[in-house]
Amino acid sequence: MRAKALDGRDIELDDARVTALRSRLRGAVALPGEPGYDESRSLWNAMNDRRPALVARCLGAADVVEGVRFARENDLLLCVKGGGHNIAGLAVADGALLLDLSPMRGVWVDAPKRVARAQAGCLLGDVDRETQLHGLAAVLGFVSATGIAGLTLGGGFGYLTRRWGWTADNVVGMELVTADARLVRASADENADLFWGLRGGGGNFGVVTAIEYSLFPVGPQIVGGMVAWAASEAPAVLELYRSLAESAPPELTLVALMRNAPPAPWLPKERHGTPIVAILACHSGDPEAGERAVAPIKSFGAPIGDVLVRRPYSQLQSLLDATQPKGRRYYWKSEYLARIEPELCAGAIAQAERIRSPHSAVIFFQIGGALNRLPADHSPVGNREARFVLNLAGSWERAEDDASNVEWARTAWRELRRFSTGGTYVNFLNREELSDRLDAALGENVRRLSALKAAWDPENLFRANHNIPPRAAAAG
Ligand SMILES: Cc1cc2nc3c(=O)[nH]c(=O)nc-3n(C[C@H](O)[C@H](O)[C@H](O)COP(=O)(O)OP(=O)(O)OC[C@H]3O[C@@H](n4cnc5c(N)ncnc54)[C@H](O)[C@@H]3O)c2cc1C
Repeated sequence: MRAKALDGRDIELDDARVTALRSRLRGAVALPGEPGYDESRSLWNAMNDRRPALVARCLGAADVVEGVRFARENDLLLCVKGGGHNIAGLAVADGALLLDLSPMRGVWVDAPKRVARAQAGCLLGDVDRETQLHGLAAVLGFVSATGIAGLTLGGGFGYLTRRWGWTADNVVGMELVTADARLVRASADENADLFWGLRGGGGNFGVVTAIEYSLFPVGPQIVGGMVAWAASEAPAVLELYRSLAESAPPELTLVALMRNAPPAPWLPKERHGTPIVAILACHSGDPEAGERAVAPIKSFGAPIGDVLVRRPYSQLQSLLDATQPKGRRYYWKSEYLARIEPELCAGAIAQAERIRSPHSAVIFFQIGGALNRLPADHSPVGNREARFVLNLAGSWERAEDDASNVEWARTAWRELRRFSTGGTYVNFLNREELSDRLDAALGENVRRLSALKAAWDPENLFRANHNIPPRAAAAG
């Protein structure tokens, strides 16, 4: 069978070796055409269609150790998949050995200690489901089918970020398989240098097999959901958003978005497919305080739909799922913002009017709060001055519409990037941005990350990711 070597050469992998790998794993090994192969290689963004040479569907850390050993013994390119949600499709590489961790979805909650240990194949919804049984939550993202591993390794933000910081700021430990196939733990007390690098430095240092999160009391009932207005109201609604976001307490996270109305039951049928502006809110504290905090949103103007109500936190965590299905085509451009300025709002409205697809959106996520209070080098996520994320989220169905939708996002980004802090979110980088925007995403921390890479993965075995190649510290 043809495969790719670590340096990209074509190599031959004989059947006997594949048979040997099968006998070394508890999980299945799948070749092209075999059951599980297509499921493992498929990614959320259909723009990424790659064919690994073979797939190891790992059932535990021991399978991951064997997979890493096998890649090294055979000089094979290696790639690792968690939830498969990365926009650039970094989880799967052509000709590689793919370690698919998606069968590893166990979650154990230690409620008295307020810590959850989750296997690295978990999706966000897996963790919320178990922690909410105890009225606890980890700081995770907005869409329940996203993988915890990629999200956490790149930083991570969601409804709880304003209170407790990046997801990566709230990790207490990780277990991972290193480039020399050792199972190690990284925490503040063990391999502290590695622990620093894992909290935003991506999958550059090994295959993470489990993550331990600090948990916080949240819910089960919170106030959350969305209010929508016709797009003609966008100037006034974005001004409301701007002023509310400035004074919002940390418990309240506000997201503004402009797109065409999806066919959701809470929006009138005659509005489906027409342009709207909406505010998505989550108040994660006391529900009565939450109702008071969102009252100015609910009473503003003449909404065409309002589902901003008391509800279970876990329900809010999946509210956006239907708008982000696996298998569509996606292209994003993103920037961090220090503030929402009136001029930015006007520019964003103009770009929303140019949207080419019923699924694309211009989105402002509010993240400012706890993360701004930590020093720049607290973890590689950096960007401690960011208070909002601007996401120009292109989403469409057919390959023949690629060019016009990509062009929409690029043009909108060119028009709006002057409002950026200059930083961008590593987990939202497109493939074309990997070469020139990784520095913007990770800033000064890149130098320390490449020295760490020299210590933990000098041969750059883990390269099919947001790769920061090794460079000895002395070389500066
Ligand atoms: C619909 C949608 C909503 C999103 N919402 C948010 C959000 O609210 N907040 C936010 O912060 N981000 C969000 N993201 C971005 C998300 O954080 C990234 O897409 C992230 O890469 C997803 O992780 P994954 O495990 O699903 O990715 P994958 O595509 O599986 O992996 C991403 C990268 O991480 C590496 N990796 C995965 N697992 C491991 C592992 N166990 N060990 C080592 N390396 C590994 C992969 O090799 C790859 O390089 C969203 C993405 C999507 C598509």
